[in-house]
Amino acid sequence: NLACGIVGLPNVGKSTLFNAIARAGAEAANYPFCTIEPNVGIVPVPDVRVDKLSEIVKPNKIQYATIEFVDIAGLVRGASSGEGRGNQFLENIQHTDAIVQVVRCFDNDDVVHVDGQVDPISDIETINLELALADLEKVNRNIERLGKKVRSGDKDAVKTVEVLQKIQPALNEGKAIRSVDLNDDEKQLIKHYMFITVKEMIYCCNVSEDDLPEMENDYVQKVRVCGAEENAGVVTICAQIEQEIAQLDKEEAAEFLADVGLTESGLDKLIHKSFQTLGLSTYLTAGEIEVRAWTIPIDCPAPQAAAVIHTDFEKGFIRAEVIAFDDVIEHGGRQGAKEAGKVRVEGKDYLVQDGDVILFLTNT
Ligand code: GDP
Repeated sequence: NLACGIVGLPNVGKSTLFNAIARAGAEAANYPFCTIEPNVGIVPVPDVRVDKLSEIVKPNKIQYATIEFVDIAGLVRGASSGEGRGNQFLENIQHTDAIVQVVRCFDNDDVVHVDGQVDPISDIETINLELALADLEKVNRNIERLGKKVRSGDKDAVKTVEVLQKIQPALNEGKAIRSVDLNDDEKQLIKHYMFITVKEMIYCCNVSEDDLPEMENDYVQKVRVCGAEENAGVVTICAQIEQEIAQLDKEEAAEFLADVGLTESGLDKLIHKSFQTLGLSTYLTAGEIEVRAWTIPIDCPAPQAAAVIHTDFEKGFIRAEVIAFDDVIEHGGRQGAKEAGKVRVEGKDYLVQDGDVILFLTNT
């Protein structure tokens, strides 16, 4: 499952946002994974293609792609240096695929800012420094650990240490490993360390209710500049409003959004941005039992895409019957599209495209 870790300084609105996420996940009925950790919320990725296919196929069950948000507690100034204190945070964050950093972009005298004043750029620097220091500590520890092997001429160890030494200066300056120019081989060599600052970053600006519907203010503008420099994603939300929306059903929520002048909830914006940032793509299956969206990397070969449904499907892959989503809709379903000659038979080299409606044939 795809996971985003939520970080940020205290009092920026993380819990408020996370409560909305947890509730949205609980609302989205019949998800197979119900017993999850209290700091994990799994939400469906809204997808009109799933809705439209379901209208035609009328399946017993509808399943959207999902994305997991993990509330990463314990990240405060000094988290990386405090012996033991930051361990839980490191444990939680290293298994996520991307990081969502909630940034306070609202004024409210009743809500204390840990540094005394609202300053999104300084907040971002504080958090990013902690993340870089956590990685730096790991880099230093592993350079030392590999020392013996390097001295005995172990080629892999030598190469690994070279990469670690290449990222070390950036981390020393509080910069992310993301900002260091590494080739694919170098990335591969350090992949197993699960560094934090390798992960993509999305800045999630938490604005005031008063900033609706544009959700722009001077704080947000500053974050946008920072995001552009770092090639990081930026979304704006109002956590307070999200919490209210999360308590409504689908129609009420749509009405509420329209009333405040919005077309999409902040949470949906965040979900789509996370999906896009992670370079993901979706294909669909449309059976009578279930219409479902499946998550794959962009340009995923057909057998690997099939493996997302069942691991045995990769080895047992024979061929894929593929119809473009628009053709399924235009011809009123798979059968109609088939009669209109819109079904393509694709082999194992086919790269699955976003929105493909697929039937896999396998020998399993
Ligand atoms: P956390 O420490 O980052 O988890 O922050 P919380 O979610 O607990 O929020 C801290 C305080 O800020 C709470 O009193 C929230 O009600 C308030 N808060 C959070 N988001 C918003 C918002 O969008 N607008 C306003 N006015 N207050 C907010």
